[in-house]
Amino acid sequence: MTDPSIADSSATPDGASVPDTAIPDAETPAAQCPYCSRPFRTEQACTLHLGDAHGETWTDDERAAYEAAVDDESDDLFVFHLKVVGALSLLYAVYVLAYMIVLGLQG
Ligand SMILES: [Zn+2]
Repeated sequence: MTDPSIADSSATPDGASVPDTAIPDAETPAAQCPYCSRPFRTEQACTLHLGDAHGETWTDDERAAYEAAVDDESDDLFVFHLKVVGALSLLYAVYVLAYMIVLGLQG
C-alpha cells in the first residue's frame, strides 16, 4: 500500500512505493529522506522535504533543522529579490540613458 502523503511517488505492481526520481550515474545524492528514500541534491532540500511531507512523524531535531532551513531559504529568497530589483533598476537606467543619448544626437 502506498503512502497517500507522498504525492510524487508511484506504486509498482508489487505495491512498493518508488519515488519518481532518476539519478544520473555520475551523481550521488547529498541526502536521502529517511522516511520515503527520496534522494536530494542538498541537505537543505531534504530538510525542507521532511517538514513538508513528513511533518507528522518527524523528530524534534528534524523540526529544529526544518525551521532553520525555512529561515535560511527566506533569507536566500530576500537576497534573490534584491538582485532582481537591482538588475531591473540597472536595465531601466541604461535604457533611459541610451534614450537620452539618442535624443541628444538627433537634436
Ligand atoms: Zn520523504
